[in-house]
Amino acid sequence: MSLPWYHPIGDEMDLFEAAWSERLPVLLQGPTGCGKTRFIEHMAARVQPRHHPGPGVALVTVACHDDLTANDLVGRHLLLNEQTVWTDGPLTRAARGGAICYLDELAEARRDTTVVVHSLTDHRRLLPIEKTGELLQAHPDFLLVASTNPGYQAAFKALKPSTRQRFVEITFGYPPPAQEAAIVAHEAGIEPAWAQALAQVGERLRAMQDGGLGDHVSTRALVHAGQLMRRGIPPRRACAVVLAGVFGDEPDAGAAALDVVDLVF
Ligand code: ADP
Repeated sequence: MSLPWYHPIGDEMDLFEAAWSERLPVLLQGPTGCGKTRFIEHMAARVQPRHHPGPGVALVTVACHDDLTANDLVGRHLLLNEQTVWTDGPLTRAARGGAICYLDELAEARRDTTVVVHSLTDHRRLLPIEKTGELLQAHPDFLLVASTNPGYQAAFKALKPSTRQRFVEITFGYPPPAQEAAIVAHEAGIEPAWAQALAQVGERLRAMQDGGLGDHVSTRALVHAGQLMRRGIPPRRACAVVLAGVFGDEPDAGAAALDVVDLVF
């Protein structure tokens, strides 16, 4: 299994390895585009399973949203050649087969959906499948991982304390400029000088946004700007089209952001 490239920022890899060794569920907290998905892809390919030669276990990802039902996670009866057959959902597949199940943006799911993970997150690691009457004991190489974005979650959408306290929480933020430059250079395939400039743009715009202007500029956005620059788009234009997604509804802030870009490049 090839290892997706990940640049560590703090002790997140050590924390995850330790949680994996104890099979403790993990919650990745942090803003969008800061590296949570890449981190879990990297760690899934890296961890040592107990029950087959490693490294690496399968990663089953579910993007949570407010229409996601418990059945979407657990499974349902489907009609196949005029017969009803039970089909495991992604959570059940991971628990049965021994995979990491990554519930991205778990707080977006309805509360009656989030509750189905409870019995898998305590020491018994059980999943009751009501529809079939099965009480599934999770595979020893199953791990539940979830993410949340505290930034744009309305308070009523935050995870219930009874859910949240079941997880080991690892907090992510946007990387310091030198590390973000290394990430942007690698991911966009651009010269270090350009990547450093983009990282500076990110740092300055975030400082500007701390006053409360929308979502922060993400590492993902800076990587996208770098990719456009590698294709020959001038830096100002590359930043403008990428930042439109951040400042699109605030023309004044957008103009101020481009002034920052002009200053840096
Ligand atoms: P999130 O899941 O937090 O929304 P992603 O993991 O999708 O964010 O990150 C967006 C992009 O930013 C990734 O595809 C990758 O190119 C880059 N990235 C951010 N942080 C890192 C990191 N620490 N190491 C490697 N790539 C990173």
